[in-house]
Amino acid sequence: MATFCTDAGHGGRDPGASWNGVLEKDLTLEYTLDINDLLLRRGHTLLTTRNSDSNVPSLSTRCKLINTHHQQGSPRFDAIISIHCNVAAYKSTSGQYVANQSARGFFGVYSRSSIRGRDLAQSIANSVSNAGVVLKNGGKMSTVELGRSLAWIHQTLPTAVLLELGFLTHPEELALLRDPAYRKKLTRAIVDGIEGFIGVT
Ligand SMILES: [Zn+2]
Repeated sequence: MATFCTDAGHGGRDPGASWNGVLEKDLTLEYTLDINDLLLRRGHTLLTTRNSDSNVPSLSTRCKLINTHHQQGSPRFDAIISIHCNVAAYKSTSGQYVANQSARGFFGVYSRSSIRGRDLAQSIANSVSNAGVVLKNGGKMSTVELGRSLAWIHQTLPTAVLLELGFLTHPEELALLRDPAYRKKLTRAIVDGIEGFIGVT
């Protein structure tokens, strides 16, 4: 069994992305709670950054807390996972935001300096793809260079991945992301991918 920290992106005063009245912070919480439930039922140890629509400490503070736990071994994390949703839109000449509907699909972001981060992201992406979920760019993983934004993967000591579940601006994907059956399928595939990386399956 393993020890994880999960993070439902945004929350409280910070809605994250939004589209057609759907807020990223609400979807990330629903998905993270389901992931947490499954990880606990499979016997893993879990810390999570929020269990409700609450304000949380800043991302850099959360990262420092995770690092303190990790360094002190109380607990030491096998992996940390942050959950997000995406939007792709541009501002038209009339000032309205228009969806770029060519953008869709699940992807994982990891630090280029972390081989284990890459392996965790790849294991999750493979599992999600096998479950029939569309991957962004046919599954080509994103990498973000060290020192450029995304504190979750660059300022943390444990193996870290940030998962973008899909695009709120893609009508079909938005409907899927809000569908409980799809959520069940996707969260199960994510947890299977995490366990595949840890090697407990
Ligand atoms: Zn986000």
